[in-house]
Amino acid sequence: MKDKKKQSHKLTTASGKPYVENENSMSIGARGPLLLQDFILHEKMAHFNRERIPERVVHAKGAGAFGTFTVTHDISKYSRAKLFNKIGKQTKLFLRFSTVGGEKGSADTERDPRGFAVKFYTEDGNWDLVGNNTPVFFIKDPKKFSDFIHTQKRDPRTNCKSPTMMWDYWSLNPESLHQVMILMSDRGTPVGYRHMNGYGSHTFSMINAENELVWVKFHFKTLQDIKNFTDGEAADLKSKDADFAQRDLVEAIDKKDFPKWAVKIQVMTEDQATKFRFNPFDLTKVWPHGDFPLIDVGVLELNQIPKNYFADVEQSAFAPAHVVDGIGYSPDKMLQGRLLSYPDAHRYRLGANYEQIPVNRCPYMVANYQRDGLMRVDGNGEDAPNYFPNSFDDIEVDQSYKEPAMHLQSSVADWYDRNGANDNDHYTQPGLLFNKAMNDYDRHNLVSNIVGAMSGISGKKKDLIVNRQLCHFFRADVKLGMAIAKGLGVDIEAVMKSMRHDVVPA
Ligand code: NDP
Repeated sequence: MKDKKKQSHKLTTASGKPYVENENSMSIGARGPLLLQDFILHEKMAHFNRERIPERVVHAKGAGAFGTFTVTHDISKYSRAKLFNKIGKQTKLFLRFSTVGGEKGSADTERDPRGFAVKFYTEDGNWDLVGNNTPVFFIKDPKKFSDFIHTQKRDPRTNCKSPTMMWDYWSLNPESLHQVMILMSDRGTPVGYRHMNGYGSHTFSMINAENELVWVKFHFKTLQDIKNFTDGEAADLKSKDADFAQRDLVEAIDKKDFPKWAVKIQVMTEDQATKFRFNPFDLTKVWPHGDFPLIDVGVLELNQIPKNYFADVEQSAFAPAHVVDGIGYSPDKMLQGRLLSYPDAHRYRLGANYEQIPVNRCPYMVANYQRDGLMRVDGNGEDAPNYFPNSFDDIEVDQSYKEPAMHLQSSVADWYDRNGANDNDHYTQPGLLFNKAMNDYDRHNLVSNIVGAMSGISGKKKDLIVNRQLCHFFRADVKLGMAIAKGLGVDIEAVMKSMRHDVVPA
């Protein structure tokens, strides 16, 4: 026993051979060339060369923690999901926060949405709610995602971030305005990850024990209070502490100051959805609280920092496709696109067996006929049958999990204009955000943040891009448009006069 303990402290190769030398390479003579047979030298260098896995193309910089979800209210009339089935019930979870556009080494205080991705380890499988700190998004059709993200990354020639690309894209896609305004408000620079809300953002469904369906939105309201940096404070911290949010999360949890969020839902019946004044599956819009009040569900608490960042945070993989019985998808086109692309991203980044990595693994039973593949480390089904149906095992499909059939509004396949009639009001909700949700301080900072960000637009299309984006702000609210125009030094009277001159016949 004593010997074994001693042996476990020996430095060994990956295959278990004890090292005899770890600091000097074997050479021919003290000053001579090295020998190929110093296998340990090659193993160390070869493994080091392979330490990085592909960086997430979005949400590369992140922090994560384990925690619990506790049910405080009975929502069984909406969902039969087992994690909600008893007041007081606790479910273990993992949450990864992130910025979106920056690389893995970028600053935590960049103006950016923040990812808010939760993995609930439920007894019916893992449920991933892969949201953001904003209730809406820039686009409503996933076909536009790669183009949009290119504008948030680096210019292909200068390799620098480009305000011209960003505002060109936003001004050409007016459905982005709502999210642009939230991003440009001080909520675009939250004080770390503890002082911001999370949102499932998409519309999902809930199914109860009677197999009745409602549409839902998920909200996570911070119990630490909303706190944001001003633009100046955020810029200052970029150079002083690029890892501010990571450090803040670790330090709070280490001090046992466990961050918490109140989990709430909004509920819409199928009938209400059919009659609602706008498309409830449009990710650029919120469901007004006046029409769909928040309903209490439970409390999410983070209470454990992973022992190893790479193992659990870098290798964590969330997929909106991972729902559990009692929670389902919706026709939200962005959600539909993400159902496909998230698992695809993980297969590329982590391999086809990414769900066997401990942080991603379902702690309850998993049984299927998927076999082999790179990094299969769970015994690969051992000697059990690898095909279905078979005469040897008792693994079956279970029809009791069946969801109600989905009723579609149309049976005609086509490329429908995402901003067609009835889907083209991009301005009412940004106007409400400005006038109803924000106070004078928020409005002042919003204008100053937008002016600062738009001042970076340059090049020969500058006036075109600025004026096109200004039109969107004017349509949301005239005071907002005027204030931004003034801040940018745009003479609105002159622009209007020149436009009148263009259209009024001489
Ligand atoms: P409410 O007054 O009922 O809700 C306003 C919401 O706005 C609150 O959830 C509040 O979140 C949030 N909010 C406050 N200040 C800001 C800000 N600077 N940036 C982003 N969100 C903020 O109004 P409605 O439900 O009628 O919505 C009015 C507008 O509020 C919407 O058009 C939308 O822009 C915005 N909003 C609405 C949400 C919704 O789900 N209905 C969610 C978030 C924003 P909190 O109290 O947690 O601080």
